[in-house]
Amino acid sequence: MQNLDYYLHDDPRLPLAWAPWFSHEYITYFSVQAINRLMTLPQVQVKAAPNLNSKNWPIGPKHIDLYKESYREYRRLDPLWSFDYEQRNAEYSLEPPAHKTIEPWKVLVIYSTEPDLHPDCDLYLHKNQKITGGSHGWRHMQFRALGMKFGIASESFHVHMNLARMAFESGNDYWGWRYLARCAHYLADLGNPFHAKAVPGWLLIKKLLSPQKLFKIVSSVHQGYEVYVERRFREGFPAFKKALLDGAREGQAACRDVTSELNAYIRKATKQHNLIFHFFLDQFGHDLIDAFNQMDPNSHLDAATQTNMCSKDAAKVVFRDPNLRALDFLDRITAEILFDVGQMLGILFDGIFPLKK
Ligand SMILES: [Zn+2]
Repeated sequence: MQNLDYYLHDDPRLPLAWAPWFSHEYITYFSVQAINRLMTLPQVQVKAAPNLNSKNWPIGPKHIDLYKESYREYRRLDPLWSFDYEQRNAEYSLEPPAHKTIEPWKVLVIYSTEPDLHPDCDLYLHKNQKITGGSHGWRHMQFRALGMKFGIASESFHVHMNLARMAFESGNDYWGWRYLARCAHYLADLGNPFHAKAVPGWLLIKKLLSPQKLFKIVSSVHQGYEVYVERRFREGFPAFKKALLDGAREGQAACRDVTSELNAYIRKATKQHNLIFHFFLDQFGHDLIDAFNQMDPNSHLDAATQTNMCSKDAAKVVFRDPNLRALDFLDRITAEILFDVGQMLGILFDGIFPLKK
């Protein structure tokens, strides 16, 4: 049995050079801990990326494949007030380090935030991508509004599933796991209500004529929720750990196919959106939206980058003392959401074994 006493940030098997940790890393961490045969796989050799990227899936111009297996630690950031995925306690190698090996589960954890860096930014993918805040949001979200479909997160998931498969087949297991880490990121995004739906119908109609205001409200509530979830993880909240472990255990035992479960999973996430959205509006209202006053609709920056810069102020509103008791509601609904996410990751990670034989 694996040691399930840890909560990621206190796991001695993971150096502080990789911290501070973010939500996607916690989600992946607990999901892999539940799968014994994944945790006991032998180390793989770190290698350079295989040349698999198809023309149909352009990569953002600023993206660089960093190798976290080789690092130079030079600071200790405060996890509770760290919001930028790029800022960590160490600098990482730009080249694949020679003669290094790493456990597959660690690869899954430490590369699960990679899709939120630059691979999906600064691209022209679709004429409607502005609705999702740019090309990044386009690849990480998927919802319907006004009879149209916006975003391609499920395609992002499938593309990376294929990349992982091709890397394993070509004998590059290291990159097989790295692509699977990215694949798991998009799968987790699809279970996040704010990635599966943008805005409650009534609000869309009310603000149809002031799209910039609407965009700001939607971004504030979405980011407010992300900040809340991440803070809970960093505090070591037991209910989130349990939800993910239970979900992943159930997923791996189910012998189900992740692709055929996808639509029901997204639909379920969609249904939880209004409840959370209304909670944020009722509970925090203008205080939260004002935390995002720095956002500039004409900025050249991706919306995700801009909202991240407001996270600190949003955290101060959400975790203000008088608000703390009301968070019970969010805790319960989020544990349900994380159970479903854990379950899908359990199915995904378990499904990799037939492929590796
Ligand atoms: Zn994402």
